Amino acid sequence: MKIFLETFGCQMNEYDSELIRSILRSHQHTFVEQLDQAEVALLNTCAIRENAHERIYHRLDDLKGRKRRQKNLVVGVLGCMAQNLRQELAEHAPIVDIVAGPDSYKRLPLLIDAASGKGAKGFDFSLSEYETYSDIAPQRQPGVNAWIAIMRGCDNFCTFCVVPYTRGRERSREPQNIVAEAHRIAAEGFKQVTLLGQNVNSYRYEQSDFADLMESVAEVFGIRRVRFTSPHPKDFPRKLLHTMAANPKLCKHIHLPLQSGSDSVLDRMNRTYTRQEFLDLVDEIRAIIPEVSLTTDVICGFCGETDADFEETLGVMQRVEFDSAFMFKYSPRKQTIAERKFADDVPEEVKTQRLMRLIDVQREISKKRNAVEVGNVYEVLVEEPSKKNSDEWLGRTDQNKGVVFFDDAAKPGDFVQVRINAAGTNTLRGAVERNGWRRLPVQTECCVS
Ligand code: SAM
Ligand code: SF4
Repeated sequence: MKIFLETFGCQMNEYDSELIRSILRSHQHTFVEQLDQAEVALLNTCAIRENAHERIYHRLDDLKGRKRRQKNLVVGVLGCMAQNLRQELAEHAPIVDIVAGPDSYKRLPLLIDAASGKGAKGFDFSLSEYETYSDIAPQRQPGVNAWIAIMRGCDNFCTFCVVPYTRGRERSREPQNIVAEAHRIAAEGFKQVTLLGQNVNSYRYEQSDFADLMESVAEVFGIRRVRFTSPHPKDFPRKLLHTMAANPKLCKHIHLPLQSGSDSVLDRMNRTYTRQEFLDLVDEIRAIIPEVSLTTDVICGFCGETDADFEETLGVMQRVEFDSAFMFKYSPRKQTIAERKFADDVPEEVKTQRLMRLIDVQREISKKRNAVEVGNVYEVLVEEPSKKNSDEWLGRTDQNKGVVFFDDAAKPGDFVQVRINAAGTNTLRGAVERNGWRRLPVQTECCVS
């Protein structure tokens, strides 16, 4: 059948869509770019905040009209929202024929057959303790970066977070299997691998920990950069920091989610670290990897957050000076501990004001941190034409900073030396430096004086 697949949410969902493509192609289904060419419309969904749900319901409203015109169109809701709102979707969205959670993708061919052949609805939202999809080779779109999920699920139960309920228990994939996937990726021409997990520092498979895995992936010929997201600030493995410092292929960027700078909020969030422990970890990271860039996630307006708690969060942001941050208003999620036990008592307008302040403070910090890059030369991995001006390229430094530059000889996947000559809040601008640099044909570039 002709399938239209739309992905919402995080990188893990993008990766899952690559798995879904592979599973369905192996059952002779094909994929179309336009919804109006499709016999099956699949939405791979996110449940992390309420606005994610709203986007999907909005999309389902569009599909309702389309289904009136195309009676045999099969509509499926997959992924985290499917898992989280399975009952609601089954009962209140009559146009939905298939509901399948993140551990049920291998059953999709059967569910599609049932829904398209007999008009039967197909629901499967069982969560598995073992499913890692390690036997499926994801079908990636060509590009520069490839994601690899090294683990699935999460056992941390941060009280605000729906992930343990939508993605189930934490399980790690065999390292040999991950390294084999990295070899395939390199053979397909990808230059960078990003290892994905909800809490990568608890990755463990028999004797291998996350630092061992990073080193094994970095050894893969053809892979020039290895990144990861996200580690949890609790029990951050020091061995990982030393491994990152010593290995030039391991990118010097850590996304370290803070969530809040107030001990009482962190405690209610069940983050299991204190403000001081977070600050000490940041100092240690910077001592071991001085050139590291740090980014973070912050939530404002969590249950019981006072003005003083919020000021503490701002204080940590000003003290740490993250290079950039994702900032969110707290959004209660069904089933979570916070939704069941705490009152969502920060008024919406206060949440909004706090979010605006966070954004303003972080904007100034990002500007300041980017300004000091002017004059520096970085090796930049060319990704794609710049969105604002397609004559220019967007690339990234090892520290994951976006750099816009002009180079008529470059193409995606190339590494070029760029001298930074201007800095904004979100991106740097630069000019290619070729003096003294020679491009070598194979894997490495080297400096020849
Ligand atoms: N595993 C990662 C970690 O431990 O930080 C985070 C994964 S979550 C997909 C991404 C971010 O969404 C979180 O770091 C948090 O800041 C935000 N988030 C999660 N639940 C939220 C909620 N209920 N309301 C607002 N933001 C939320
Ligand atoms: Fe959610 Fe916490 Fe797990 Fe991250 S570590 S996915 S925030 S429960």
